[in-house]
Amino acid sequence: MVTKPKVQALDVEKIRQDFPIFQRTVRGKRLVYLDSAATSHKPKSVIDAEREFYERFNANVHRGAYLIAEEATAAYEAAREKVAKFVNAPCKECIVFTRGTTEAINLVAYSWGWANLKEGDEILLTEMEHHSNIVPWQLIAERTGAKIKVVPITDDGLLDIDAFDRLLTERVKIVAVTHVSNVLGTINPVQEICCKAHEVGAVVLVDGAQAAPHLPVDVQAIGCDFYALSGHKMCGPTGSGALYGRKELLEAMPPFLGGGEMIRTVTFERTTFNDVPYKFEAGTPAIAQAIGLGAAVDYLTKIGMERIRAHEIELVAYALERLQEVDDITIYGAALPEQRGGVIAFNIGDIHPHDLATFLDAHGICIRAGHHCAQPLMRRLNVAATARASFYLYNTPDEVDALVEALHQAVKFFGR
Ligand code: PMP
Repeated sequence: MVTKPKVQALDVEKIRQDFPIFQRTVRGKRLVYLDSAATSHKPKSVIDAEREFYERFNANVHRGAYLIAEEATAAYEAAREKVAKFVNAPCKECIVFTRGTTEAINLVAYSWGWANLKEGDEILLTEMEHHSNIVPWQLIAERTGAKIKVVPITDDGLLDIDAFDRLLTERVKIVAVTHVSNVLGTINPVQEICCKAHEVGAVVLVDGAQAAPHLPVDVQAIGCDFYALSGHKMCGPTGSGALYGRKELLEAMPPFLGGGEMIRTVTFERTTFNDVPYKFEAGTPAIAQAIGLGAAVDYLTKIGMERIRAHEIELVAYALERLQEVDDITIYGAALPEQRGGVIAFNIGDIHPHDLATFLDAHGICIRAGHHCAQPLMRRLNVAATARASFYLYNTPDEVDALVEALHQAVKFFGR
């Protein structure tokens, strides 16, 4: 018999009151949201920060010579400072605002990749990458003649470090690796990866989409060259995100998009570019969203990333144990909660994960079903799709119970 943890790391009931969405019901039932790996909910402070921008100082940034434009610029740049602190970047100029992780990775692939890759070079990825850390590299590989190599995973869902060591030759110019897998939940040893990659002269991009919301992130301790994150998965608005890059690398990189803001002087003959990070922020940026991301960082920081992590370990440990009660369940990924983030992918017999998700929806429970934008990993796991429950700071052990109870009912319903 599994004992239910008294969630001590966080006062979840209090936290839930910060999220207006939990006041609603779905299909007459309490909303049990177990899909934060897709996108998280937003606390009132984030929603208010965006509203306040529009209501009180809506103006374009970096160019207006009037008070509310100065206020908008100050708030936008303060958000950059907050994100820099959140990931322990050495300076705020190392933070480029993007629409999310996908855009951040594309920025590096097109800008750094285009300038630095050539035929014979290798790009080292892993078998557990999200499509957004595969496809941009394929596009740039096609154009530059560089080759993609892939580090496999072990049968227990961890990165095969021996294979990584073998594949990491001096031909490798960039290693692009997820910090936390969005399917297996595996936390990769990114510090070790960076250390080894640097020994052969390669740079490292870490996809932090599933890590930055859940663990304390210190880009200097990790030693990475680039770190990408999505605001909408960490209590911030959609359309917000950031790329951390080492300043000297960003400075040496050509622009990604051209347009206003990113220039210093333009003539028809020649354009000179702005300093970093503005060189990479062409056009009017997503100002309200960046300010909202700053508010999300304030919110998470106030609660404490260590405590959020401790809470998720507790919750995942309980969920991993309780899910074992479900007939014919296969859980993917590492056995130990300490080895994984707040994600649990599973299948039950031959019930299609979409059928499971639809069944759970009738109980007010939101999970994800599908290939999770990780088709190569699905192939490695020998499945077309999985169900996935993902947890965050506002989830409770009672919600794990609700999930398990509904899965028992699903097994009966589908006649297994
Ligand atoms: N990488 C990982 C590991 C992800 O989970 C996601 C989002 N599912 C992304 C990248 C892409 O993030 P976004 O859609 O916010 O750009």
